[in-house]
Amino acid sequence: MCIFCDIINKKIPCYKIYEDDNCLAFLDISNDANGHTLVIPKKHYENILDVEQETLNHVINCVKKIAKHYVDNCGAKGVNILNANGKDAEQTVFHLHFHILPRFENDGFSAFPKLDKNKQTLEELQNKLKLN
Ligand code: 5GP
Ligand code: ZN
Repeated sequence: MCIFCDIINKKIPCYKIYEDDNCLAFLDISNDANGHTLVIPKKHYENILDVEQETLNHVINCVKKIAKHYVDNCGAKGVNILNANGKDAEQTVFHLHFHILPRFENDGFSAFPKLDKNKQTLEELQNKLKLN
């Protein structure tokens, strides 16, 4: 059972912002950041680690369309796009989704955590992490 599939199948209502053949965008139930929106593919994938590329392309196009709409037509001054993949990355709903947080001057929150310095140097990290 997946709560976002239930929203797509209209078993659970949502405040819809946009829909096309592949994607659905609706307001996050938290109603915290002004206009906090979730964008999801209609096909169920758990997250970015298992989604097939074509579906991801559709979803990210939709994210851009809505982000631009919020800035061009709805008064937002910018947007943060957030996405969690996996339990330890704080994903709580295991259907791929991107959060759009519209941002306004002096809106009083930061989308980025303030972290202490990592113990490993950038060189050590590069050696450990580089892909090619
Ligand atoms: P995550 O923590 O997985 O990145 O984000 C899941 C988001 O889904 C949370 O921000 C949460 O508020 C939202 N959410 C959970 N259940 C529902 C629901 O039934 N309806 C809507 N609109 N949002 C939901
Ligand atoms: Zn689902």
